[in-house]
Amino acid sequence: MKYKPADKIQDLQYFGEYGGVNPSISDSSTYTFLSAKTMFDTFEGNAEGCYLYSRHSSPSNLYLGEALAAMEGTETANVAASGMGAITSTLLQLCQAGDHIVSSRTVYGGTYAFLKNFIPKFNIQTSFVDITNPEQVEAAITKDTKVLYCESVSNPLLEVANIEVLAKIAKKHKLSFVVDNTFSPLSISPKELGADVVVHSLTKFINGSSDTVGGVTCGTQDFINALRSVNDGANMLLGPTMDSMRAASVLKNLRTLHIRIKQHSKNAMFLAEKFQEDGLRTVYPGLKSHPGHETFKKMMNPDYGFGGLLTIDVGSLEKANELMELMQEKNLGYLAVSLGFYKTLFSAPGSSTSSEIPIDEQEKMGLSNGLIRFSIGLDNDIERTYKMMKSCMQEVGILK
Ligand SMILES: *Cc1c(COP(=O)(O)O)cnc(C)c1O
Repeated sequence: MKYKPADKIQDLQYFGEYGGVNPSISDSSTYTFLSAKTMFDTFEGNAEGCYLYSRHSSPSNLYLGEALAAMEGTETANVAASGMGAITSTLLQLCQAGDHIVSSRTVYGGTYAFLKNFIPKFNIQTSFVDITNPEQVEAAITKDTKVLYCESVSNPLLEVANIEVLAKIAKKHKLSFVVDNTFSPLSISPKELGADVVVHSLTKFINGSSDTVGGVTCGTQDFINALRSVNDGANMLLGPTMDSMRAASVLKNLRTLHIRIKQHSKNAMFLAEKFQEDGLRTVYPGLKSHPGHETFKKMMNPDYGFGGLLTIDVGSLEKANELMELMQEKNLGYLAVSLGFYKTLFSAPGSSTSSEIPIDEQEKMGLSNGLIRFSIGLDNDIERTYKMMKSCMQEVGILK
């Protein structure tokens, strides 16, 4: 029986202070206590249901966190001001100086830069591996390794991590297995497949309206308490706190996520099949030609499809730029980074979102400079979109 994340969200019921169908927004940075003793207990982390200060937690952030925890099937969750705010706090909480991380080499550019350039100053080292090769993953583990890190579907190459197999390796070596599920919310439930911690950039599909950045860490109550600890919690002390107004807004958008993901997946599947038939080098996990297709199919929850991201390789950066500019001119989408918007977004990752990764590394991982990443929008008539895209491709000479 697969996990039913959208049903879990649906089953949550919130009421506002005056019986509103949306929870009231907590518009306060600080909270009063009826007794001084309760204030002390709250500082000690022992006053369930009491609020201290909004960097620690706030009712609006807890509502959103609960909904995301329900979606991922974890005990609880902590929302953050951005995906990077969630990811960096999570990793800094799990690692001490001298520890080691094994990470997929195809991760979000910011995550890669953090692991490669930022945390070595705390003497935390990372080995980057081909996450689709379990022998290589296991061989990279040392006596100091604390964390195994990957994205369920990687950015931008759309490699699919076999979460069940990786979870077994992590268990065997007593590592915390952290999975970034930004590219496949609802479709894949990493916790159900054995991950210990699930992180997201809410900026992408989950919020879906490209009006804010946001992030979340989903995990056990103990781990989330640790992140929020006033003494040594990375979220509490580094302070990447989401604003309450924004948390309320993201929660409202979360309620339509299942409908949006189905449409993103349907449209992306249609275009991927057409592009492949046209002879374009197309990467989409829903295609049988994708090396991770069977793994994705085995892991996925029914109903939500293979996601909204696909890539094509048009041979050179010049051609990629020419095509993207023309598609934008024809109003087929925006030449922009990010993903999960109602409108199609396209970018050339080698020169944008993955530019933190050195060129020789990019080549090694198969990231060529003619690659275009598409986040397919919610277009009502995808056949019409396809015809218009095809005529752009013909105009720039990528297709006959
Ligand atoms: C965008 C993204 C992030 C970073 O999230 P922000 O909200 O931009 O901080 C992390 N991981 C993945 C896979 C992403 O796409």
